[in-house]
Amino acid sequence: MGIKGWFCAALMAAAGGNVFAAGSTCVPRAEMQTIAQHFNQFNTLAGADYCYDGSQTANLIQALEFMRTTKYASTMNNSTDELFSGTFAQDWWTYFIGRINDIQIQSSCPKGVGAFVYSFGNTMYVCPMLLTDSFAALDRTSVMMHEARHIDGFPHITCAHGPRTGLQGACDQQISDHGSYAVTVETYAQLAAYATDIHPALRAYAASSAVVYADEAFETPAHVDRQPNFLVLTNSKEFYRLPADGSSNLQRLGDAPALGHIVSRAQHLILYPDDKALPAKYIFSKNEGEIQQAAGDIAVEYNGQTPQQRAELVDVHIGAQWTVRVYHNHLLFVCDPTSPATQDVILSGQVAGSVLYPNGYDRAASSTFLITETGTLMEFGCKSRKAFVQAARMTLDQKYKRVQKLGQEVIGLTPDGRLFVINGAHSTPLKTSMDGRIYDLMPSQTFAFFASSTN
Ligand SMILES: [Zn+2]
Repeated sequence: MGIKGWFCAALMAAAGGNVFAAGSTCVPRAEMQTIAQHFNQFNTLAGADYCYDGSQTANLIQALEFMRTTKYASTMNNSTDELFSGTFAQDWWTYFIGRINDIQIQSSCPKGVGAFVYSFGNTMYVCPMLLTDSFAALDRTSVMMHEARHIDGFPHITCAHGPRTGLQGACDQQISDHGSYAVTVETYAQLAAYATDIHPALRAYAASSAVVYADEAFETPAHVDRQPNFLVLTNSKEFYRLPADGSSNLQRLGDAPALGHIVSRAQHLILYPDDKALPAKYIFSKNEGEIQQAAGDIAVEYNGQTPQQRAELVDVHIGAQWTVRVYHNHLLFVCDPTSPATQDVILSGQVAGSVLYPNGYDRAASSTFLITETGTLMEFGCKSRKAFVQAARMTLDQKYKRVQKLGQEVIGLTPDGRLFVINGAHSTPLKTSMDGRIYDLMPSQTFAFFASSTN
């Protein structure tokens, strides 16, 4: 057997950034002394106030301080679904130091691993990825609580079902076992529902993160009470909700900071603005504001490019185990979740239009569809970690800019801004008050627990 490590794979890399706990950029000396009492590696930093400098050590201390200082509502009711049982709601710091007494920063780790512990000892090993600005203190704290839970004896299993099928250490059996992924869900859910002083956009991000893990990290998916809706963006940058029940009644939400294409990343939404001088970033539909953190590897790469290079990117698909960057005349796949290796497939004689989801945006699906500039449908995906693009067996009766499916309802958006209900190869107009002015269409969900606890 050798030494058994409890690696936690398939971390939902994503949020982060310079969001300091309680709005502070320095940790008071007294706090540093308390932290150093438990983690004596910080002794040399505990003689004075400690100010964050973006270093790995600073980002680690920031997470510990977030764990210590985040305030919650005095009453935290359990959810009626499985998002929040309150099992880990009492004093995270006490829980953490009761299990971990040493933290070691690693120089490198396998792809997707944020931190790990061994099944002996009380040391937590933290990977460089988790200490970059792609993560927030909120994410790091959630990961550290997850690791601490392993010390109680809760190893992971290899997923046999769902979006993470075949990934080692990426699942627990069920959330009610209260293993490490249950801690991940519960910590994000607690932050989203009950933290009293976090930014509304971070709150929304935490809510989405809780649901992503609830949906993807258990063999038996956790029960989450939710309402699926289409989300509509108009050409005047207004968000509307369109119920997925055949209704044409648009409900006004907030505003987008810029016009562009919105890509789904599990429950998160990422805006790629039409103005190629602007960066791609997470977006929230109810005027929650923004988070500064990077929206995943593809957005990071995009944001590092020139506007001319950015203009080459047409669309993006983000599955649980594979991604595609769709360029005008080729598709760049990452099919192996354990490796950054890419596979490039040229579109011979075709120009890519956009990614369509006539079967719904499904993180577990191994393929989806692409429509070309001339309206030809193609299917693309990863099969046994090998990229493919082939003629689609499905047809549509007109050219669509977007197609999304929620429940049994398939809705298409035409390039001239109108919606249709799609039934097989037959489309029927869905007249709304925004006819001709609809710019983008994506799936979205609202969650009973967060709606009731935060409004
Ligand atoms: Zn784990």
